[in-house]
Amino acid sequence: MSSKKDTANEPVKQETRQFKAEVKQVLDIVIHSLYTHREIFIRELISNASDALEKMRHEALTLESYTDKDAPYEIKIETDKDNHTFSIIDTGIGMTHSELTANLGTIARSGTREFLEQLDNREALDSEIIGKFGVGFYSVFMVAGEVRVRTRSYRPSAKGYEWVSDGVGEYTISEMDGLPRGTTIILNLKDDAHEYEDETTVKDVITKYSNFVPFPILVKNEKVNTVQAIWLKSTSEVTDDEYTEFFKFISNSVEEPLSRLHMSSDAPIQLSALLYIPAMNFEQFGLMKLKPSVNLYCRKILIQQHTDKLLPEYFRFVHGVVDSSDLPLNISRETLQDNLIFRKLGKFLTKRVIRHLDDVAKNDREKYNGIWEKFGMFLKEGVVSDFDNRKELADLLRFRSSKAEKDEYISLKEYADRMKEGQKDIYYLYGRSREEIENGPYVGTFKKREIEVLYLLEPIDDFVMTSLTDYDGKKLISADSADIELPPVETEDKEAEQKPTLSASDIKGLASWMKDTIGDRVKEVRESKRSMDRPAIIVNPDAAMTTTMRRVMKAAGRDIGIEGEKILEINTSHPLITRLKKLRDGTADKGFLQSCVLQIYDNALSEAGLMDDPKTMVERVYTIMEKALESAEKK
Ligand code: ADP
Ligand code: MG
Repeated sequence: MSSKKDTANEPVKQETRQFKAEVKQVLDIVIHSLYTHREIFIRELISNASDALEKMRHEALTLESYTDKDAPYEIKIETDKDNHTFSIIDTGIGMTHSELTANLGTIARSGTREFLEQLDNREALDSEIIGKFGVGFYSVFMVAGEVRVRTRSYRPSAKGYEWVSDGVGEYTISEMDGLPRGTTIILNLKDDAHEYEDETTVKDVITKYSNFVPFPILVKNEKVNTVQAIWLKSTSEVTDDEYTEFFKFISNSVEEPLSRLHMSSDAPIQLSALLYIPAMNFEQFGLMKLKPSVNLYCRKILIQQHTDKLLPEYFRFVHGVVDSSDLPLNISRETLQDNLIFRKLGKFLTKRVIRHLDDVAKNDREKYNGIWEKFGMFLKEGVVSDFDNRKELADLLRFRSSKAEKDEYISLKEYADRMKEGQKDIYYLYGRSREEIENGPYVGTFKKREIEVLYLLEPIDDFVMTSLTDYDGKKLISADSADIELPPVETEDKEAEQKPTLSASDIKGLASWMKDTIGDRVKEVRESKRSMDRPAIIVNPDAAMTTTMRRVMKAAGRDIGIEGEKILEINTSHPLITRLKKLRDGTADKGFLQSCVLQIYDNALSEAGLMDDPKTMVERVYTIMEKALESAEKK
């Protein structure tokens, strides 16, 4: 140990550090629960190597000097059956000391651990998940007892380092001399993972998951992947299988996509794009917000992965590749979004994606419904946020409806096309379920007149409709709004409808007495123009602030005062109302009649879903019941 040579080779610095707590937890989940697709560690390592090479190629465009300028851009995989090792070597950008600790000792994205924990044993998802959330590297510990990462950054003066860990609690970093640019990762395979020292197995895994990596992957110096930019080919040159395989590759997915769009154009901008609608929507699980998933290239050179602001945010579920030779090659990622061509490209593509969805909707209803069920939430977001494309996006919306089968969806266009003669507006109503809407007080009057009502089943839908305001010149109106004028009913109970009951002045008197009785809790009491079976309903005077929205805001803790702004509409041919009028003119107990009025109001509030505290109402119902029982006794 005292010889000069030994001393020179001894690591100058060595330090051991603890993994961050959340890394330990993620490692624990990776090692102990995600067993089903262990082979994906190869995909993850190759993907990291490829990323590092893409970055190098991009840096090289502008740099004067950097380490190992002549090194070929490639990924090598070597296995050793005697020592049970699996090694992967790339000539990418490598890592400095601080990058090493930041990248392989922490988790970049917040929420990852919580997300993995939630997933538990959903086996089909594990291999999808691991690469998506910035924890791909840790998958090596599914197969390796000890991992060595030897790396040297491309920066001219950068030193080399070796990172060693068994994935349990800590890692050690030492300086290491003589390393070439890039990264070498050596896995010491666990006893139950020796299959990964077999070349054939390794090659199979590579063709399965990494066939489209844009750099040669060499196993024992033999190229395994195809290294092709299929998005630049013409559609006739690419098979369905290749398209699917490419999707799986770029999305780290094992599922087939729901739809794809492969196009090229020369004007207004030169571009080729291969975009996919995936099969799964990870935001549906409610924990993660998806990041944009389109990668931007210029003549096969990656400008930016997961390009932000190319497509609008609501298209963050779209996966794919866009290549434009009009983009300046050496554009920095920071200034990309200010670039005029970049912005034009985004606008153009957005319209194309919308048109593609529209084509699917027109040509294959079932397929589109599948897309709608998975990704409808994003399209709604689009309607609310993308003013330029609002009309086209509105055409992509789908609804349940009073005139559609339970499992059928209809579009606004279909609604408009089959509107009744003389009908001017489009009606909708929010409810938590079809049953709730159909049992509620509002739909009946529309059904009687055979007027279709769209059923909105998600709280956000109400918001979507109010921001859309109209469709094709027709106003969108919530069926619980005041001032809805409906044509007279054409059915047999026409007579019943028109039976004169109370005179105009009777009604006026009754309504104003009822308003006085209820007081400030109601804005107005008036005769209803709807024909309905209820004695009374609540309607909304303010179209932009519907009942649903109030409910939503109230649930969010923002009490904006539901009462005092509602209108109570009374059915002047309902026996309860006509009798009330009669008794008020007589000698009946006034206090009791007032209780009945208050109860009618509270019932209408309850049916509108606006009853917050039923205590007073329940007490009143008991008093009314006592009265009723008393009079039953007398008879
Ligand atoms: P992700 O690839 O999603 O960022 P990973 O866990 O796979 O997450 O990798 C973490 C980080 O480690 C990468 O973002 C990268 O910065 C770094 N890294 C991993 N492998 C390499 C490599 N071969 N060359 C350079 N950097 C790497
Ligand atoms: Mg990765």
